[in-house]
Amino acid sequence: MKVIKSIEELQEIRANTKSSIGFVPTMGALHDGHISLIKKAREENDIIFVSIFVNPTQFLEGEDLDSYPRKDEADKKICEICNVDYLFMPEISTMYEKEEILIKAPNNSYTLEGLTRPGHFDGVLQVVLKLFNLIRPQNAYFGKKDAQQLALIQQMVRNLFLPINIIPCDIVRQNNGLALSSRNAYLNEKQKEQALLISKSLYSAGTLIAKGERETKIIKEKIYEVMDKLDVEYVAIVDKQFNEIKTIKQGDTIILVVARFGQVRLLDNIWI
Ligand code: AMP
Repeated sequence: MKVIKSIEELQEIRANTKSSIGFVPTMGALHDGHISLIKKAREENDIIFVSIFVNPTQFLEGEDLDSYPRKDEADKKICEICNVDYLFMPEISTMYEKEEILIKAPNNSYTLEGLTRPGHFDGVLQVVLKLFNLIRPQNAYFGKKDAQQLALIQQMVRNLFLPINIIPCDIVRQNNGLALSSRNAYLNEKQKEQALLISKSLYSAGTLIAKGERETKIIKEKIYEVMDKLDVEYVAIVDKQFNEIKTIKQGDTIILVVARFGQVRLLDNIWI
């Protein structure tokens, strides 16, 4: 595996790579969720690139940019074990100028994550477009865990006619149901225990739906009931375009929840 720090080096390597390229962008502190994306990319492409870049433009003022978990050495080992060909770890100063051409997420994305974190998705799209332009992959792998991000990246690819396949990847969970997240590291033991109610609430929703319930109002009530003791920021039931729906549509429904543990926001969702 080659670790690449400079843009020029990356561009040179890319110019000399003719094989099919798979790409997994991350912010590091790699866990089994990231590893599942990397493994899928490894299976489906000749050459794979992983990036680790804690992108400042997607963090809002007062968010955890400075304290975001950084585990560069462990991450390098994980990538090596996963047979990654190239690990791109650029410096912030090489990725951005002071004044930049900006990408703006569509207005209808200012709901859910976009409502709590206005401007977050502008920053996500900006950095993903930069990375796409640098690496020019055929296939890029994203987790369904960040469902709204995934939908916006699919839209960006569509709207800007980027010749890239976006491959959605299933959420990886602990055995007890908790969705893996780099931010789980912020939780204390008690919070980790309480956080199990998040996936439990989604499983209860899944059970209700399996029994034939289709009305989203009733499903939401059940979810809130299970998370009664948590600080729930939102529960949303949407179609894949992220429009709120009143009736479950099999194959076109995502149920999303966010709960807060102090400053830490944990996201989870299931796809019906
Ligand atoms: P991040 O490092 O948090 O920016 O995540 C990098 C990629 O990994 C994104 O596409 C995430 O959606 C994906 N990811 C994060 N957690 C998980 C998980 N538990 N299961 C599957 N994919 C995940």
